[in-house]
Amino acid sequence: MSRADHQPQIGPVERPWREIGEYNRVCGRTVGIVLALEDSTTPLVVQFDDPDEKPVVCAPEQGGAPVPRPVQRFEGKAAVNIVLEACQKAQMTEVFVVADQKIAEAVSQAVYSTKHVNRGSDYQVLSIDKRVLLDQTRKAANFKMFDVPFGVLELARGLSNTVPAGYDNVVIVSADNVRVTADHIYEVCLDAFEHPEVEAVSSWIEKLRRPPYVFSREFLEGLEERGFTSPGTNGRDRDVPRIAVLDHVFGEEKLAANPVSKWIPEAFLSGCSMTALEAVQVAKQALAHPDETKPLDGPDKMLVDIAKDVLVSRVAYNAQDDIAWADEFARRCKLDFPLLNDQEHAGKLVYMDTAATSQRLGTALQAQRDFDEHGNANVYRGAYELSAHSTSEFGEARAKLERFIGASEDEIVFTANTTGSINLVAQAWGEWSIGEGDCIVVSVADHHSAMLPFVMLAQRKGAQVHYVPYGSDGRVDLEAYRASLEKRPKLVCIAHVGNVFGIEAPVKEMAAAAHEVGARVLVDAAQSFAHTRIDVRDLGADWVAFSAHKAYGPMGIGALWISPDAFGEMDPLGGGGGTVSHVGIGSYYLRPNVQQYEMGTPPVSQAVGWAAAIDYIESLGMDAISRHDAVLMRYLIEGLHRIDGVDIMGDHSAADGETGLVSFTLRSLVPASLATFAGKLGVAMRSGGHCALPLHASMGLIGTGRLSFGVYTTLDDIDAALVTIEACRYVYEM
Ligand code: PMP
Repeated sequence: MSRADHQPQIGPVERPWREIGEYNRVCGRTVGIVLALEDSTTPLVVQFDDPDEKPVVCAPEQGGAPVPRPVQRFEGKAAVNIVLEACQKAQMTEVFVVADQKIAEAVSQAVYSTKHVNRGSDYQVLSIDKRVLLDQTRKAANFKMFDVPFGVLELARGLSNTVPAGYDNVVIVSADNVRVTADHIYEVCLDAFEHPEVEAVSSWIEKLRRPPYVFSREFLEGLEERGFTSPGTNGRDRDVPRIAVLDHVFGEEKLAANPVSKWIPEAFLSGCSMTALEAVQVAKQALAHPDETKPLDGPDKMLVDIAKDVLVSRVAYNAQDDIAWADEFARRCKLDFPLLNDQEHAGKLVYMDTAATSQRLGTALQAQRDFDEHGNANVYRGAYELSAHSTSEFGEARAKLERFIGASEDEIVFTANTTGSINLVAQAWGEWSIGEGDCIVVSVADHHSAMLPFVMLAQRKGAQVHYVPYGSDGRVDLEAYRASLEKRPKLVCIAHVGNVFGIEAPVKEMAAAAHEVGARVLVDAAQSFAHTRIDVRDLGADWVAFSAHKAYGPMGIGALWISPDAFGEMDPLGGGGGTVSHVGIGSYYLRPNVQQYEMGTPPVSQAVGWAAAIDYIESLGMDAISRHDAVLMRYLIEGLHRIDGVDIMGDHSAADGETGLVSFTLRSLVPASLATFAGKLGVAMRSGGHCALPLHASMGLIGTGRLSFGVYTTLDDIDAALVTIEACRYVYEM
């Protein structure tokens, strides 16, 4: 059949099913159907958008006569059933289901039961063991399941890699709830790929502006040709799409060769009786006393086998003294964190999400609680002792923080968090200092919290925001940065340590260069505050923003350091109690110091808790913390390199500048699937865009997985994380 024959010769029709049927009839050989689900939180929904109109299923053998169905919204299994039924009517010979793990089972059951129902069997789906069901499903049906990444863009990318050769066309049937993403497909077609096929397909899409979309195999191959390949960041370039869609179908040979592969991740996880950390302990025992080891089977055996491999590699690691020291350091620290020692989590949880928020330090919690229980009163102007005490505690906390970062007295404003601090700069300075045509320099790797306040400011003022690129090594492109300074920006925003690469930026050098052109410099120290010594004067910034909750202290409090020069250029946008020294009718006198920005009752008990966390960091010593970070990071990076398919973001081979944070992709796996899998094995890690979507987009990624640690992160924790990633790879890819 020529390509022309494949061109859609059908006009706009009312319903997707009908279109499929038509298409089938016209082309004679449509072989796949893909249900596109938007993301892991969206249930499969088939919804007919005009409630008054009866949806139809086209049965080509009946000459396309519509089969009325009750008007309904179908979810989950019911939705799958209706689609499958429609597929059958449209003479689909093979079903591709793009789904996330959560609905995998429902889909599998539906496929199986549909088959049986159609054979007239009285088979009861629910009475069968899940694993057997899954197995049988794969054998019984022409059934393929793909793990779906977010959005149709990735779906299109994934298809290019996974649609089996020999198929001429793939029909993407998208439920109506994915309609928004129809536009994405369209844009992808037009913008990303100048494939001749796009013309034809897109004009058809244009006409329909609704599912299904038909891509020819050539077109899908075109996607691959057009650069959906990993740039490779650690010298291991791979010619594979970074985000591919997974094939969960395990052929007979693969099944025979590897019994593990008979489980989809869901089934694997439900068969696991231990967390990854427990598997590491069991593996240790087994290695030390092989004769006494209790036999294991199924997923537990696999997990422990992987843990054994990881532990054996640990022995081969060449910095044994260093890691023994770092491990001992972390073990001692861990005892100071109640959550990590409580009954529910001790020995089970691996907390690898410190970059999002650290675990709370026991003494910080206690200090806060003591204050709330025995010292609570509002600050300032209270003549009674409790209030005087509260005022002095609050003042001491401020003074402690100031000392900690090398600031002078009254240079720190308490805010709600880093985001609040940065917005304060954008408002109290930006509002008066930025005007039409001015330039603000941020970086593409900045956290949304450091980017958006200035994007919004620029929008208000008619100013320009210039984004400095980052290299794939995870470092700011200094040449581009210097070039951006030629625009003579009024403000430069620098992330001390980014929350995706976790690598320290040369702030001092960048700030000095910015000052030379007269720019003010804001440093986002959210990620560096707990990991590296900050001396605000040495950094040479005008403002430094950070939060307590990423540094073992409470949520709800952050701070902004303001240099005296910058203070002179700021004026509050709001006022209230605490901000003034005198108020008359129609007049007011602001406090002459930074407290003019602390409106209303401040977060006193949080400040007290934060002060205790700072005491703790000081008692450990920032040098020891940095050494722990650096040593374990090296070990983690080496472990990640050993896992086939892991691509690490940024170059972590330098000896310094590590802050216990690494982001990565695991070939072909959606980061959310990895993190969900990890969570089920007791490893708390983060996935997604990490509030740095422009950075991810600039690297052609929808997201990454991220492991980040704190002083309490032990060697076992890291091994457990490695075991989890390896197990995930194994289960998904076999
Ligand atoms: N900047 C960076 C680099 C961050 O990592 C974060 C938190 N993830 C923030 C800013 C925002 O911090 P907060 O949520 O405490 O305001």
